Amino acid sequence: MKRILVLEDEDSIRSFVVINLRRAGFEPVEASTGAMALEKIKEYPDIGVALLDVMLPDIDGFEVCRRIRAADSKIGIIMLTAKSLEMDKLTGLSSGADDYVTKPFSTAELTARIDALYRRISASAEEAEEDELRQGPFVLNTRNRVLTKSGERVKLTQIEYSLMKLFMSNAGKALSRSEILTEVWGKDSDAEEKVVDVNVRRLRIKIEEDPTMPIYLSTVWGFGYQWNA
Ligand code: CA
Repeated sequence: MKRILVLEDEDSIRSFVVINLRRAGFEPVEASTGAMALEKIKEYPDIGVALLDVMLPDIDGFEVCRRIRAADSKIGIIMLTAKSLEMDKLTGLSSGADDYVTKPFSTAELTARIDALYRRISASAEEAEEDELRQGPFVLNTRNRVLTKSGERVKLTQIEYSLMKLFMSNAGKALSRSEILTEVWGKDSDAEEKVVDVNVRRLRIKIEEDPTMPIYLSTVWGFGYQWNA
């Protein structure tokens, strides 16, 4: 369900927007003042996009935008501006709005902008998720190269980090020593397969409860290793 906040003090415009959003499959939440909008944002944490009118009886729309943005960096914000003055647009975008629509606008234009914003929001959410590999008690952040186990940081060397990333990206799959060597040390490396064993042993000491009875990083006899988490 795509919940959208519609902040607009003019009843006729708000009803028009709300009816059309509902028809387009959205779930609008209405507000006629800035204060009410801020309350609704708290009340419905799943609001994905906010449409904010600028001229309001209490707080101006840009201020509402700033306050929403200060509390939530992920929500999409579209300003509904009455004038097409460049100044309005600039103020809107610098207050943290993602887009603006100039009144009078058509339903088609508004929903197109909302759809585009939703696509951008979900794309960046996926990007953020791709920065992390989560398995069992382990979270590997590939942006800052940090591994945690049950929330506790596990300090890794660069090679150990690369091993963890390879294993966690291939959970449940037996990886041969030569495959691991190529992936972590590189194709042209002179390293021997034994170096894989040495590093796996060191990694086990850091991540296993009992390194002699590994449960996450198991040996596949005569072949290589497998990650199970
Ligand atoms: Ca207004």
